[in-house]
Amino acid sequence: MKIAIIGAGLGGLACALECERLGVIPDVFERDESVGWGFTCITHWLHPIHRPKGDLYDYLRKFNLDLKPINKCNELVMRSPNKETIIKGNIGYIMRRGKHIDSVESQLYRSLERTSVRFNRPADYKELSPKYDYVVVATGNRTAAKELGVWKDIELVHVRGGVAFGAFKPTSTTIYFNRKYAGKGYARLGPINSTQAIVGLYQIGDSEYEVDSHYKNFLEFEGLENLEFNYEFSVPMWTGGRVDKFHVGNVLLVGQSAGLMERFLGTGAIEALMSGIFAARSMLKGEDYDTLVRPLQDHIESVSSFRKPFESLDNDGLDRPISFIDTPGVKQLIYNTGLNIVDILGPMQRQINKIVNMIGRDEVES
Ligand SMILES: Cc1cc2nc3c(=O)[nH]c(=O)nc-3n(C[C@H](O)[C@H](O)[C@H](O)COP(=O)(O)OP(=O)(O)OC[C@H]3O[C@@H](n4cnc5c(N)ncnc54)[C@H](O)[C@@H]3O)c2cc1C
Repeated sequence: MKIAIIGAGLGGLACALECERLGVIPDVFERDESVGWGFTCITHWLHPIHRPKGDLYDYLRKFNLDLKPINKCNELVMRSPNKETIIKGNIGYIMRRGKHIDSVESQLYRSLERTSVRFNRPADYKELSPKYDYVVVATGNRTAAKELGVWKDIELVHVRGGVAFGAFKPTSTTIYFNRKYAGKGYARLGPINSTQAIVGLYQIGDSEYEVDSHYKNFLEFEGLENLEFNYEFSVPMWTGGRVDKFHVGNVLLVGQSAGLMERFLGTGAIEALMSGIFAARSMLKGEDYDTLVRPLQDHIESVSSFRKPFESLDNDGLDRPISFIDTPGVKQLIYNTGLNIVDILGPMQRQINKIVNMIGRDEVES
């Protein structure tokens, strides 16, 4: 069987590994000269978001992915304009991304035994589709899904950040919520180690031209303006969205190309890896891809549903949930019990959002 995989990111490499394991060597096309994003980045794999899976390192090992974090995340600081809450416990893992030897992409790439990635080879699914039995699109963008008519845009995100020198607690991450600079998004500070951290603003709502000034305001407001920056980056704007089909003809959409990134905190790494594995199983074991991947999308939609009530809060309002989480017992319930908050409350929140949308539409029409 001839399989082409476009994109050697999380979804593409996980798919290639599973293809190898099932006995087929795919052709992997990567437009860059090596694996990994061009900017230094760390990401968080958070247990509370993925409750039923348990420990995420152990969970991925069940799918033959042995991905080592650079650190455990055992402290999460959440700040709104006037409040702060600190949650301690087994919150998740801090994973390196990019071209570093310890990045998730580098680890996946090293695990490939027989597949060689064709670097500097941007590929187009339309050209590959007639030549292969299957084409897996794992490009991390919406282009193919949009052309195939299965993509719906939901929101635009601008990312501006940098690598800063300072004194940091490597296992502690801070998330900042503030309408003035983050709009409907947020900002975060995640240490790489005790002397370097990634500082990033995920701005939603304003134009790309305003992001630089918002970023400056963020650093000033949060007292980070005196950090010495090693370098700064601006990620090309990306669009959060969803697809209504994951499989069109012989083309399978994976990871962010399939809209598998939630629109509350912007996580999607686990879903990218899992959809890559499911794509391989579907092609090689005849399992239905849509059926395999739909629960991932349901979960993404449940997490994303919390954006609606979050968006309705102004800066004073943002202080309320932070105070609530700080209430004794609530933190314990959310973070230190195995309670699957997202998948229990998410579907309810989705229904509430639908009703609110319907009422909003009726009001506009009447
Ligand atoms: C700044 C940032 C922070 C994030 N933080 C988190 C987090 O904390 N936790 C979390 O779970 N998720 C996080 N995410 C989301 C997560 O990283 C993505 O969901 C995940 O990387 C998606 O994987 P992917 O395989 O779809 O795409 P990617 O990993 O982006 O890989 C796409 C690959 O395709 C290649 N490519 C693109 N076009 C072509 C082409 N035409 N031909 C050949 N190759 C091509 C690219 O060069 C790239 O190598 C974050 C995302 C960003 C941008």
